Amino acid sequence: MPGSEPDARHVLLTQWFDGRSPQARPVQVWLADDSLWLKCGALESRYPRREVRWPERSSHGQRQVELPDGGLLQHADVAEWDRWWQHSGGQESVVVGWQQSWRATLWAVLGSVAFLAAAWVWGVPLVSRAAVHLIPAGLEARLGQAATEQLSGVFLKPSALPEVEQAAIRNRFTQLVDGAYPDGNTPNWRLSFHRSPALGPNAFALPGGYLAMTDELVQLLADQPDAIQGILAHELAHVVHRDGLDMLVRSSLVSALVGLVLGDASGFLATVPVTFATQSYSRDAERAADQFAAKFLSANGVSPTVMAVFFERIAEMDGGKYDAKGLPIAIASHPEHAERIRFFREWR
Ligand SMILES: [Zn+2]
Repeated sequence: MPGSEPDARHVLLTQWFDGRSPQARPVQVWLADDSLWLKCGALESRYPRREVRWPERSSHGQRQVELPDGGLLQHADVAEWDRWWQHSGGQESVVVGWQQSWRATLWAVLGSVAFLAAAWVWGVPLVSRAAVHLIPAGLEARLGQAATEQLSGVFLKPSALPEVEQAAIRNRFTQLVDGAYPDGNTPNWRLSFHRSPALGPNAFALPGGYLAMTDELVQLLADQPDAIQGILAHELAHVVHRDGLDMLVRSSLVSALVGLVLGDASGFLATVPVTFATQSYSRDAERAADQFAAKFLSANGVSPTVMAVFFERIAEMDGGKYDAKGLPIAIASHPEHAERIRFFREWR
């Protein structure tokens, strides 16, 4: 019978339990023709390799092989078994070989961590920025609307600000936006006012041009109308730079991409309220928004130093008992007041 001929170099003498008798018997085993061969005196058996349960290579202790007919091979000398296994073409898989070495394992783990970190640091922003640009304006508006409705329910109450006062702020901002975009290519925005004991003097922006400002902020800056405009400019920057979308896509990258590919945004939409209620824009995004606000005011002949007043007043409130951490994307919730006061005072 071809293949059954044992190759002397590749025969292992080991112990066999036939599954019926408790007595171990000495047998010769070898691998050939994709089978395990077993020879005990005149008896010769062949087991297809796939049907044999081979020992875990990573385990210590003796090697034990379960045969499909209920028999068992036991080999106490692990090193001898492993040598036989390798020499008879046991086909050590690369993965198992790697698992043998905890050093290799450690390197593999470190490598995976490094890869994931690199993907997160460089890959996700790249993919996210790219995905953000793929989001059509209609979807952006839907996202912004959904987020606005959700956040309104949690944080905002109807404004008590007189209509005239609201209109005055809107009209002034319309003029300043026109002034900052002399080519007429102005971004879309709509501004709503809300009373908010939860957020205090605050403002925030959501995708699609939704700007929200609290009555408390208007009251805090009643004597500083230009600072109110500067804050709106800062919020408009988040819309223009699409920071809200970027944050959304980053925090729900998979469902966002699936949504884009399949054209079904429902999974993506479901993540919107939580994301906007819990995440903050990056510090880079905040700096860019401050930069935008400073240029915006300056383009209209207003000194950006007016913005410093706002952060000074907020810092004073922070020093007291005021806590605006309820909504991390909102302007008063950004913690670096001193740095921003310096930025607007020193802006040229
Ligand atoms: Zn901001």
